[in-house]
Amino acid sequence: MEQTEFLKLKDELGRKGVTLVAVSKTKPDTDILRLYEWGQRDFGENYVQELTDKQQRLPEDIRWHFIGHLQRNKVKYIAPFVHLIHGVDSERLLKEIDKEARKNQRVISVLLQIFIADEETKFGFDHREVMELLPALNQYKNVKVKGLMGMATFTSDTGKVSSEFHQLKALFDECKKHERCSDWNIISMGMSADYETAIAAGSTMVRIGTLLFGKRN
Ligand SMILES: *Cc1c(COP(=O)(O)O)cnc(C)c1O
Repeated sequence: MEQTEFLKLKDELGRKGVTLVAVSKTKPDTDILRLYEWGQRDFGENYVQELTDKQQRLPEDIRWHFIGHLQRNKVKYIAPFVHLIHGVDSERLLKEIDKEARKNQRVISVLLQIFIADEETKFGFDHREVMELLPALNQYKNVKVKGLMGMATFTSDTGKVSSEFHQLKALFDECKKHERCSDWNIISMGMSADYETAIAAGSTMVRIGTLLFGKRN
């Protein structure tokens, strides 16, 4: 994407109160630095090793988002610096993040991943599991849950995608009624193919790769 097009997208999202996370997985440093020079600071990665390598080489004021499936034994590598972990899909993982955050004297922000898609390959809590987890959240003092994340079914059926995103928004609203979650302010939903549908359904954070950087190999 060219600079003028990028700035236009960024401006549009900004006016709607939507944060852009530029998904740079598999992309070289030069691609990241190009967007950095255009003012982008939020970047998302899926693989721990790739994320830690890039974090060491690239500017310090980049906010690194971990958006992939995180294994508990890898939390320690990103705990010192990660800005937001999007895909927390079990209480055991939450507990591990809490432990590693404490070691680093940090409070790490996270999102709970919710299973909304009609696919077996996607991770996340279901409605009942997340409602049961809410009362337990305050025992994790070094984790700050800020909201929810979800991925829609990979399909060209916009109606289906839209209904899945609305489902996530409804669950978010329901969680917010819980006193401990009243300050939640992030719904991370929407990728290159469906971010407009996601925003229409109430997304506050989109994770966009292909549209910004071109196709991945
Ligand atoms: C790769 C990825 C994205 C970005 O996908 P694009 O279709 O390239 O925009 C967003 N979210 C997650 C969790 C991803 O793994």
